[in-house]
Amino acid sequence: MPAFALPAFRRPTRRADMSDPTAMLDMLARMSALQWTRWGGNAAIRQTQAQRLHDLLRFTRERSRYLAERYAGLPDDAALESLPPLTRNELMGCFDDWVTDPEVTRSRLADFLADRTRVGELFLGRYAAWRSSGTTGEPGLYLHDADACATYHALIAAAMQRPEVSMAWAFGQCAHGGRRALVAATGEHFAGVVTWRALTQWAPGGESCELSVLRPVAEWVGRLNAFQPAFLAGYPTALVLLAHEQAARRLAISPSIVWSGGEHLTAAARRAIEHAFGALVVDEYGSSECLSIAVGCRHGWLHLNADWVILEPVDVHHRPVSPGTLSHTALLTNLANRVQPVIRYDVGDRVVFRPEPCECGSAMPALHVEGRRDDVVTLRRRDGVRVPLLPMALTTAIEEGSGLHVFQVVRVSDDALAIRLPDAPARARRASWSAARGALSALLEAHGLDNVDLSLDAAPPQVSAASGKLQQVVDPARHGVAAGPRARRPRGVRPS
Ligand SMILES: [Zn+2]
Repeated sequence: MPAFALPAFRRPTRRADMSDPTAMLDMLARMSALQWTRWGGNAAIRQTQAQRLHDLLRFTRERSRYLAERYAGLPDDAALESLPPLTRNELMGCFDDWVTDPEVTRSRLADFLADRTRVGELFLGRYAAWRSSGTTGEPGLYLHDADACATYHALIAAAMQRPEVSMAWAFGQCAHGGRRALVAATGEHFAGVVTWRALTQWAPGGESCELSVLRPVAEWVGRLNAFQPAFLAGYPTALVLLAHEQAARRLAISPSIVWSGGEHLTAAARRAIEHAFGALVVDEYGSSECLSIAVGCRHGWLHLNADWVILEPVDVHHRPVSPGTLSHTALLTNLANRVQPVIRYDVGDRVVFRPEPCECGSAMPALHVEGRRDDVVTLRRRDGVRVPLLPMALTTAIEEGSGLHVFQVVRVSDDALAIRLPDAPARARRASWSAARGALSALLEAHGLDNVDLSLDAAPPQVSAASGKLQQVVDPARHGVAAGPRARRPRGVRPS
């Protein structure tokens, strides 16, 4: 335990949602400041970024026991590049000393996030809270204070103010009453749905509709046909499925804006969505640690919100890589959030920065992101109908239904899935397999896929040879390889 004495704690009085009477004024002030900074060009952006980084580091050294210790010995004006990179597992392991509010503890937050009836509520009455899905260990638990949330909302509002977006938005307000629909993991404390609910509190006009990724596509289609949204948001994998439904004329909607987030949007996916809906596609890159890192432009590049975010492309040893070079990972610094400082945090995404300015004229650095890519898995029902399952549906079903976070789902054939679990004593492994099988069976049944065989693969989860990252949902056929060793059941496990 670090021995640093921290200054007396003063409980924040503002709430991280729009119910706070000052929230709207605060967000408008932030939007105005954001525009002034950006009109000032590169020099103004760099100056603002440097000042915010200075303030964040000073605050962090005063208030975070863990980071104060990690930065001990470094001068007060140490350059960002001289600070140690941090990983999720490291920070989650010392959570109570990392956060800057002593009333926040990991166990209290974990209890809050375990209660799915409280999705969208504020933790301790003042912090937005969510968790990430677990891919390399226990899920990350995240808190965002009122200033951070107002900043994220201002960044989203700024993206909406771009001429092509605001025109499409105005058209959607007139043509479809501003109705908005979200396809997401709606029953969990994930960033997407929590933010959606916060934003729909104050966004002017329009009803809101949430569609769960755990439900069959046909159900989404029926609800969307009846709802006729002006604004459609979701994971790109879900949006592509809906684009196929629209192309097949089972879905007939005409949103003016389709907002893609939460996963990597490929150029092909963007084209499919644009073509099917004839809508403006806006791509946003964010993470649980920083909700709005970059926003896409009409030329297909993401532009870093460099006044509020620093993203360093680095190699496997965390050394910087040049623009034009694909990084091994990226180090994220979130300049907006104080309650849980994110400074040189390894986000695990491979990025490449564009060496020259983007044709769109934005002063913000342009980049492409190769985030984690899970596969959509298509299986065949008894009657021969092929049914796609989103990776988010498979992972959410297992996480919600079994409590497991480290696993890999592998498509073996048209009617067989295998699951890979980490090495563990036989008894624990049997219990995990039983829980995962139960959770997956329920999902498959909801999609009419109760004919699909489930098995336990003898191998543990395999890291992708191409990216070095763990894909939670893999269809080996999409990567030109066989499904791997034949799955076998451990002793004592009955066939499914
Ligand atoms: Zn651009």
